[in-house]
Amino acid sequence: MKDPDSGKLILLVEDDPDVARIIEQVLGDFGFQTVWCRSGTDLLRRLRTLSPDLCIVDLGLPDMDGLEAMQRLRLQSTCGILILTGRAHVSDRVMGLELGADDYVLKPFEPRELVARVRSILRRRESTGGAGNYDLAEFAGWQFNLANNTLLAPDGESQVLSTAEAELLGIFVRNPNRILQREKLMGTRDLNPSDRAIDVRISRLRRKLEPAPHSPALIKTVYGAGYLFMATVHWLSTS
Ligand code: CA
Repeated sequence: MKDPDSGKLILLVEDDPDVARIIEQVLGDFGFQTVWCRSGTDLLRRLRTLSPDLCIVDLGLPDMDGLEAMQRLRLQSTCGILILTGRAHVSDRVMGLELGADDYVLKPFEPRELVARVRSILRRRESTGGAGNYDLAEFAGWQFNLANNTLLAPDGESQVLSTAEAELLGIFVRNPNRILQREKLMGTRDLNPSDRAIDVRISRLRRKLEPAPHSPALIKTVYGAGYLFMATVHWLSTS
């Protein structure tokens, strides 16, 4: 019988090459596909083209705090998250779980235990339908297909969004009714938080989504704080 996990894609965010090699090897033995990211930036770059089933995130990264990397990952993806940490502080682990991690493993770890945790997260997410294969977001009469960036209007007209617009709308539909800071909404291509790229993108999206772009009902500006996507989002599967 074919292992149900075989072929699942796991991104490993770990700056220590020795630890990364051990994890990649043991996950490979169990049929998983792995991609190694050496840093938080590397992870965010990979997420532009890859849709992992799960990410293993080391909290001690060279370029950003692992919790920060995880938060940004959560904004872009509904994949499972396993924290890997040498930090024994309970507060870090609690914070990680509150920020959306599914589980954590303390270093040093037993490789087979890590695999067991990975499989249990994938199992749990499959049984609750949160495995990331729900890629059609429905809100306020609209349908947005995250698999092909197609936006279907309530009147049945469909259009394909640019990659940048689709990334932005993807973050909104995954995080409805929450204030999102401008920095959180920026893709990795926008390196300068002071530039207006994000605002330009917001107004483009508003022109597509809002009947009255100057008094927006869906994408609200929260002055001094960021933006808020006000809608109830239902997720459907396209497959
Ligand atoms: Ca590390």
